[in-house]
Amino acid sequence: MDERAFYIEAPTTRTAELSCPHCRTTATYELRWVVRRKKNRVPDGADERDRARFAKAQSYMVLAEDKVTCSNTRCRRTFEISGIKTMAFLNPEQEAAVAQTAPQAARQQAKQQSKKKKAKAKHKKSAQAQQGQKKQQKQKRKKPKVYFPSDYIHYRP
Ligand SMILES: [Zn+2]
Repeated sequence: MDERAFYIEAPTTRTAELSCPHCRTTATYELRWVVRRKKNRVPDGADERDRARFAKAQSYMVLAEDKVTCSNTRCRRTFEISGIKTMAFLNPEQEAAVAQTAPQAARQQAKQQSKKKKAKAKHKKSAQAQQGQKKQQKQKRKKPKVYFPSDYIHYRP
């Protein structure tokens, strides 16, 4: 069984300070990561070996890109990302933060997709939106502890 079957994948971004080796300019870049959150249950069709692997599996996130384009307009050259962690295990606290954020991102996406049906359930929508905003504010207040001090997890809508 593919290890990926053990996880629920979600994209995320994190900022990182990177230094261009060509022009030596240091800048902040928004890098794409993939969060792999361990499923609550062993996936269907798992054999004994898969179950043992699943028991040991841990939620983690991994850097989804290996190169960036220098943000210095006079340089603009591509360089390899180095000097930062490219993989991080999520502790239970972070995992909870991701779990809270993921459904919200999905809701936001659904909201955008159903804009055509807007007229139908206008009242309901605005109530949901207000709730969503309240939730976002709550999440802002309790920032999860993360591996890199300047970083925080957030989802693209
Ligand atoms: Zn450069």
